[in-house]
Amino acid sequence: MRVLVVGGAGYIGAHVCKTLAARGDEPIVFDNLSSGHEDAVRWGPLVRGDVRSQTDLAHAFTTHKPDAVMHFAANIEVGEGELAPLQFWDNNVGGVVALLLAMRTANCDKLVFSSTCATYGQPGTLPLTEAEPQDPINVYGRTKLTVERMLADVSRAEGLRYAALRYFNAAGASPDGEIGERHDPETHLIPNALKAAAGIGGPMRLFGDDYETRDGTCLRDFIHVMDLAQAHLAALDRLFTHPGGLACNVGTGQGITVREVLEAVERVTGNPVPHDIHPRRAGDPPELYADISMARELLGFKPQYADIETIVDHAWQFHRKAWGLAESPLQD
Ligand code: UDP
Repeated sequence: MRVLVVGGAGYIGAHVCKTLAARGDEPIVFDNLSSGHEDAVRWGPLVRGDVRSQTDLAHAFTTHKPDAVMHFAANIEVGEGELAPLQFWDNNVGGVVALLLAMRTANCDKLVFSSTCATYGQPGTLPLTEAEPQDPINVYGRTKLTVERMLADVSRAEGLRYAALRYFNAAGASPDGEIGERHDPETHLIPNALKAAAGIGGPMRLFGDDYETRDGTCLRDFIHVMDLAQAHLAALDRLFTHPGGLACNVGTGQGITVREVLEAVERVTGNPVPHDIHPRRAGDPPELYADISMARELLGFKPQYADIETIVDHAWQFHRKAWGLAESPLQD
C-alpha cells in the first residue's frame, strides 16, 4: 500500500519508512525539512511541504493517492514549547486540523498519529495504563492531548479510523546502522551520554540525582525505535479491519534509571561517561513506564530489542559512524 508519512524525514518517521519498505509498502514522505534530514528519505519520494498548508497537502494527496497516513511532524522539545507555545499549538494542533481536512477531501480515512506519554502528566499509578487520567504538565503534552481529543471527535462524527500511539522514550537506531537519531540541538539522554563517552563537547549534564527513585535519578521506559516502527505497522494494518479509534501506550514496560543508562553506555563504549550533576529539569516526572497490555492485545506488540544494552549499542554504532569515529573502541 501507499502510505503518506508526514514528517517522514525525522527520527521515528524515517525508521517507519524503512520498515514499511522492508515489507513491500511504499512510503511517501511529506516533510518541510525544518528538523528532518533529506538524506533520511531513502525508501520513496519526498514531497516538500508544510503540514499547515492546504495547498501543499492537496498536492501530495492528488499526486500520490495514499491509502493511509502516518503523522510524525511536530515540535517535540518540551522546553521549547514552554517558551514558544503558539508555535507548538500552530504546528502540532493546526497541522493536524489541516491534515484532517486534506484527508477528508481526498477520501482518506485512516491515520496513525504520534502521541506521547507526556499526555499523562505526573502519573498517579505505575505502570501507566491507558486508563490513567491525562493531565499534561507542559505545552507539548497539551498539544498532543488536544489532538487525541480532536481525533476522537472526528472519528465519532465522520468515521475517521485512527490509532494514537503514546510513545515512551524512543531510542536506538536501525540495527544495520543506516539511520538513527539526529536532533539539533540534541537534548535526549542516550545521544548525549554517548557524546560524553566519546569525548565530544565535555561532560554530560545529569539533571537531578535526588529523586525518590532506586538510585536518585529519573526512571524512563526506553523503547527501541525499530520496535516502535513495528507498532506503527501493526496499528496501520488494524485500521483496515477495525473502524473507530484507539489510543495505546508503546513502551517496553520496563523502567531504567538515568544512571543505569550511563552504566550501559560505559559497558557498550568501553569509556566512562563524564557527567556533572545539575538541578532537576523542569517538568521531568520522577518515574514513567508503560503498561503495554493493550498494545500486546490489540497490536500483537512484542518488543524485540527491549534490553537497554542493545538499544545503546545500536545507537552507538550509528553515532560512531555519524561522528566519524574509528571502528575500534576509543580506549582500551
Ligand atoms: N537527561 C539528563 N541529561 C541529558 C538529557 C536527559 O539527565 O542531557 C535526563 C532527563 O532529565 C530525564 C531523562 O534523562 O530524566 C530522559 O530525558 P530525555 O530528554 O531523553 O527524554 P524525556 O523523558 O524528556 O522524553
